[in-house]
Amino acid sequence: MDIKWHDEHEEKPILHRKDSVLWLSFPLLDRENWLTDAFSTRFGGVSRGCLSSMNLSFAREPSNGNVLKNFRILSDAVGFSSDNIISTHQTHTANVRHVGAADRGSGISKPLPWKNVDGLITDEPDCVLSVFSADCVPLFFADPVRHAIGLSHSGWRGTAGRIGSVTVKAMEKDFGTNPKDLLAVIGPSICMESYEVGEETAQFFDGRFLRKKENGKYLLDLWGANRSVLIEAGIPEENIEMPNLCTACNPDFLFSHRASHGQRGNMGSFLSIRSKY
Ligand SMILES: [Zn+2]
Repeated sequence: MDIKWHDEHEEKPILHRKDSVLWLSFPLLDRENWLTDAFSTRFGGVSRGCLSSMNLSFAREPSNGNVLKNFRILSDAVGFSSDNIISTHQTHTANVRHVGAADRGSGISKPLPWKNVDGLITDEPDCVLSVFSADCVPLFFADPVRHAIGLSHSGWRGTAGRIGSVTVKAMEKDFGTNPKDLLAVIGPSICMESYEVGEETAQFFDGRFLRKKENGKYLLDLWGANRSVLIEAGIPEENIEMPNLCTACNPDFLFSHRASHGQRGNMGSFLSIRSKY
């Protein structure tokens, strides 16, 4: 697999393979033996065409059966049960929900009981938090002191709405998390050079994260903007793992909304507390 890394000198996510399934995990989280973390790629599923092959979006595929099969294949490869996945209902909000054992399977093996939820937190084991993306930024959070986790979906609206900070505050309130203890990973998503936006989007962002182009449009640095949200929320800079992989620069390996002009499936980010560690 020919992967274009963003920065050859930075730490890279770990590429895992089981049969035809390829997925990534993140060194900062892999070092915590109480966690399971994963980010799916396009490889190893049963979907066809522009959804090929590990599509994890029910909305984008006529066959629910294919998507369910993909969830099962990926879960088996990574080593968690697809019945334990807890799903978001992503509408680019900054809403974060505290979930637990009773919610296992929500959105996968049983109906989703909530709407407009773009982030999830839990301190219970075997609750596999999930968010879905194809250029938007997944944010992973782990508190090694309280053994609590969070996972959020932060596209440009979520970033402008500071969902990263909302997630940290929810963990402080519900789990007694001290942000200084938090480990955070900004997952694979679109790089600044690939992300052109108009004035109507640019207006929500600080000039530090924008570069004006000659055509009057802007390049938006979602990675930097999310990093700054996390630092302002109290997470130490050295506890934040930055992305080293852009979705739009790797359209054969990862789903990218921009690179595919919207003809694409979804990838999944997953984070879970192990029941035994
Ligand atoms: Zn890129």
